[in-house]
Amino acid sequence: MSAKYIFVTGGVVSSLGKGLAAASIGCLLESRGLKVNLQKFDPYLNVDPGTMSPFQHGEVFVTDDGAETDLDLGHYERFTHARLTRDNNWTTGRIYEQIIAKERRGDYLGKTVQVIPHVTNEIKAAMKKISSDVDVVIVEIGGTIGDIESLPFIEAIRQMRQELGRDNTLFVHVTLVPWIATASELKTKPTQHSVKELLSVGIQPDILLCRTDRFLPKDIKSKIALFCNVEEQAVITAKDVASIYECPLVFSQEGVDRLVLKYLRIDAPEADMRKWEDLVHRAYNPQDEVLIGIVGKYVEYEDSYKSLKEALVHAALHYNLKLRVEWVEAEGLETADDSYRTQLSGFDGILVPGGFGKRGIAGMLNGIRYAREEKVPYFGICLGMQTACIEFARNVCGLHEANSSEFDPATPHRIIYKLRELRGVEELGGTMRLGAWECKLEPGSNAALAYGKTEISERHRHRYEFNREYEALLTGAGLRITGTTPDGTYVEIVELPGHPYFLGCQFHPEFKSKPLEPHPLFMAFIKASYDNRQKRLSSHGGEKEDLFLRPENAGKH
Ligand code: GLN
Repeated sequence: MSAKYIFVTGGVVSSLGKGLAAASIGCLLESRGLKVNLQKFDPYLNVDPGTMSPFQHGEVFVTDDGAETDLDLGHYERFTHARLTRDNNWTTGRIYEQIIAKERRGDYLGKTVQVIPHVTNEIKAAMKKISSDVDVVIVEIGGTIGDIESLPFIEAIRQMRQELGRDNTLFVHVTLVPWIATASELKTKPTQHSVKELLSVGIQPDILLCRTDRFLPKDIKSKIALFCNVEEQAVITAKDVASIYECPLVFSQEGVDRLVLKYLRIDAPEADMRKWEDLVHRAYNPQDEVLIGIVGKYVEYEDSYKSLKEALVHAALHYNLKLRVEWVEAEGLETADDSYRTQLSGFDGILVPGGFGKRGIAGMLNGIRYAREEKVPYFGICLGMQTACIEFARNVCGLHEANSSEFDPATPHRIIYKLRELRGVEELGGTMRLGAWECKLEPGSNAALAYGKTEISERHRHRYEFNREYEALLTGAGLRITGTTPDGTYVEIVELPGHPYFLGCQFHPEFKSKPLEPHPLFMAFIKASYDNRQKRLSSHGGEKEDLFLRPENAGKH
């Protein structure tokens, strides 16, 4: 049987959670024994999100094959077992890049190259490329219906229906049914308009996922069904949930998977969602909590660290803890005196995540110094590993000017530098060490204990690396290198023995953490942080120390 396609579009406004909807449908179909793959099309003109600002675009999710992709691919991997590659995320820029290369090579044999059929053919070819060996491909079209830039993608999915037929294609439209407080009413008009917009480009949706803050009553469902020409059972309440991991369960209660199978004429057993139910039960019934301070540069925009936040949640859920995160703006820790220490004094664990550029580095170094000296569990990821090495070189080894050549090219002590010969490569895109690399762990290290093995593979996204010329000095003063590439070229993990938990890794473990398979390093960090919390609170007579929380952040966790 060749793969069937589910196309997910969005209407009314952006940020309705199309990615989560696609991932949740994937999760439900997998739980019914089907093999799924997922794909996202982003209508913008950038070739990939790799060079886009995290404020604009959110996190750049990295796949094993080193593609820099949209953060929705993170949801796909967390909710399913689909193995994603660069073929699972396309932008208009990348589609056109291919077409223009072909045109320059003369592949079009002198024909006029046009949106229809050349661009749409290229889009359809990308959709078909990821369909081998799977039962269902779920394709998410980014943007909102009515956008000029998404038209070629919408036209391509319309053509897919013509080619593959009704039984092999399904249109799911995610829309908004807002509650208007002044009228005390749910409003269906935005949905009607959005479906009208879809119809004008030749697409009749089969299922409407209605984002709303309350259950849609029967009369609202019938009204939407009537106006939008869908079955009443296909008008789905996609109610807001406190934990995103409840989405598949909510969809299943609303019968989404049953409907998908009915429309696509697939026979499959009932879904076994017990593991997800257990996870959600834990999310809503935590035994206790753990408070992590994340010291970073893009902290005012949580989407910049999407996978990181989720990986912490997964590990906390594993220990039945509620995760509370306070985002600490690194520059705010650059105080002339020691007052930065009071800002950090209430955290159970401190984490410095990945980042680029010089801004906030001094604050991060202060944060790390505090964690090291006060024996607060510390987890440094990528930039957080590099800054941990710089902090150690400066404050323990006395190399006061130690730095990364990224922040100070003229530093006399380049603890972190560009090991790879990247000089001469001018463009920003594509010059990084990207994707999965093997790593060998030192037996007996915290890393090896956490993983339970000594050979691992993790994903990278960085330009600079540890300078092994300083290894003897740093390890002589107590730092341990506990993970390297098998050939010993790259330092991948550093640890501080004698500290409850102090680990920095050059890779991004957060990309591989899943709710049902939390990442070992995040589990070890959360465990150490929770142990620290219990120790701290028992020495404070058991009182919970919440005073340090900045009032403006209260309620955000
Ligand atoms: N800026 C650092 C580098 O390029 C770290 C990158 C990161 O944290 N992802 O090596």
